[in-house]
Amino acid sequence: MDRPGRPPKPLLILPALFLLLVCCVALRAQKPSGQPAAWVIVGAQVADGTGGPLQRANVRIVSDRITHVGNFRPGKKEPVIAAGGLVLAPGFIDIHNHSTNGLEKDPLAETQVSQGITTVVLGADGESPWPIGEFLHKIRQAPAALNIAVLVGHATLRRRVMGNDYRRAARLEEIAQMEKLVEQAMREGAIGLSSGLEYEVGSYSTTEELIALARVAARFGGFYMTHIRDEADRSFEALREAIAIGEQARISVQISHIKLGTVGVWGKSAEAVRLIEEARRRGVDITADCYPYDAWHSTITVLVPNKRYEDPASAERALADVGGAANITITECAAHKDYEFRTLEEIAKSKGVSPVELFIQIVKDGGASVIGKSMIDSDIRTFYRQQWVMVASDGGVGMRHPRAAGTFPKVLGRYVRVEHWLSLPEAIRKMTSLPAARLRLADRGSIRSGMKADLVLFNPTTVIDRSTFSDPQKPSEGIEKVFVNGELVWDAGKAIGARPGSVLSR
Ligand SMILES: [Zn+2]
Repeated sequence: MDRPGRPPKPLLILPALFLLLVCCVALRAQKPSGQPAAWVIVGAQVADGTGGPLQRANVRIVSDRITHVGNFRPGKKEPVIAAGGLVLAPGFIDIHNHSTNGLEKDPLAETQVSQGITTVVLGADGESPWPIGEFLHKIRQAPAALNIAVLVGHATLRRRVMGNDYRRAARLEEIAQMEKLVEQAMREGAIGLSSGLEYEVGSYSTTEELIALARVAARFGGFYMTHIRDEADRSFEALREAIAIGEQARISVQISHIKLGTVGVWGKSAEAVRLIEEARRRGVDITADCYPYDAWHSTITVLVPNKRYEDPASAERALADVGGAANITITECAAHKDYEFRTLEEIAKSKGVSPVELFIQIVKDGGASVIGKSMIDSDIRTFYRQQWVMVASDGGVGMRHPRAAGTFPKVLGRYVRVEHWLSLPEAIRKMTSLPAARLRLADRGSIRSGMKADLVLFNPTTVIDRSTFSDPQKPSEGIEKVFVNGELVWDAGKAIGARPGSVLSR
């Protein structure tokens, strides 16, 4: 007997037949890339991105979505991927990625997808493409292998409004003009505002200027991502400024590559955590990201906060802050190609000059990109163990730092498997649902039915980074397959050639 309210049987059969038909068409159909329109990944341990325990399940992808997660049996003709012994995770979301130029030359982004990255956020550190609308239009016309979102850069706007006269506080009318540009960027698809307050153009701005611009971004649902004003002895002051901007502009704040970068603040991570947690308790929505390296990559002038680059006392202090000239390696120097991949100490010795003299000469000759010892391991571990700290690379296509190709596998291989700093599900959460929440991506960052099929299949017993300072592009190992919007982009150590990436805006 039918229960009350249940439709008679013939009425159930029709929708069921229709569903079957749709499924059959989908299973036979192909994507433009020639890949099947549906897959079932069978037998993987699923890390769903929420931080919960791994669970063995099958996952069906139809078109660009996950349609089924559970212990169902694949249909007879369904393409199956056997994934026993592997972990299936949501695609990794890199909230701080410098691939804006690299993607133009290398849209397959092998160094990125080979890490399991399926979404990159561009426009960090205050520098972004402009206009945002035009940039995103170009990407839609010629997509990359992975998804792209973009922030509008504060320094980019500052230069547009102030030209070369940026070495001062902006006037009220200039701030008003910048506010208009933030509004334009947000309307055109930016997901927030970024700043780089340790860098030349951004460093002259006042907190008030930043609050005014952040307010506009907040009005459009954006967040504020900041390379704070100081990552050295004045780190705490700089953190307080970022918190104040969040509080006064009522905007969510993302601290980029959280760091205690000089001898004077090494070991103070618990204090930094306390400061941020106090703000969180007051209701400031503040999170951070951290890269798994104890060395930074930037311009040589970043070492000198007072900007008196040619003053010997300042240069000496700069070298002492990183623990000496042996802790600075040149990666790029247009005027002295022979300096590249050597430390300041080595070069100074070979030339018979002091490291301070050498430093000043390099600055005079046009500067250099350098890698500097920045953090101690125990501070990195303390940061990673906070539930509001996510993994991000600060790398990108073509970047001369091992984090360019190794960040995510390094966390999975070294910090999870070898060091046990984090559990695997928690590390995955920091790469997926946590950044997705910050970006307000409702349909990415976890594995469940209805979500976009950005997925990573990896071997938890072998996954590891292989990139080094002298070979920064060397691909990682153990990432077996990567799907972006349901299409395979990385398989068996090679890029497939597909470019299914989307533009993600609010
Ligand atoms: Zn930065």
